[in-house]
Amino acid sequence: DPRIDGIQSRIRVVPNFPKPGIMFQDITTLLLDPKAFKDTIDLFVERYKSKNITVVAGIEARGFIFGPPIALAIGAKFVPLRKPKKLPGKVFREEYDLEYGSDCLEMHVGAVESGERALIVDDLIATGGTLCAAMNLLERAGAEVVECACVIEIPDLKGSDRLKGKPLFVLVESQ
Ligand code: 5GP
Repeated sequence: DPRIDGIQSRIRVVPNFPKPGIMFQDITTLLLDPKAFKDTIDLFVERYKSKNITVVAGIEARGFIFGPPIALAIGAKFVPLRKPKKLPGKVFREEYDLEYGSDCLEMHVGAVESGERALIVDDLIATGGTLCAAMNLLERAGAEVVECACVIEIPDLKGSDRLKGKPLFVLVESQ
């Protein structure tokens, strides 16, 4: 698709951020280009508009940028998957390991009903630990995870192997 090169070219790679040795993939520069941002959303919408998705779950924080416009365009609800202690209601909680330490995602109980068809959205998949925790939250609510969608994949880290056999859709690979 000719739109992919434009999207790729707007992702800024920042060496040694936030730590030495990390090549940070910065999507804020993509958001500054209305055409590239719209193309990003359009590519997801074209893929998911006829898949009977009932819920788009976005991962804090950058999944909150890409998830809602997709949800609106395909007629699905949007559910935020948040870092701990942000949601006021009763929550499902999933802890997951990071390189150093652990992190956690929460989802409101009752936001998703049993039998719903879910799409999980984030900006980037690295090890896949974050998306795996997100999938567990949706499955605990009884939803079927149809697919995970990210703008960027770091293919060397093989994060797609951690997605419990479910498909991953990405637009670009990290440079
Ligand atoms: P994983 O759990 O797959 O190892 O890491 C993915 C999570 O970390 C995503 O929520 C993503 O936003 C964040 N992340 C890790 N590295 C980067 C990066 O280079 N750029 C951006 N934008 N996010 C990253």
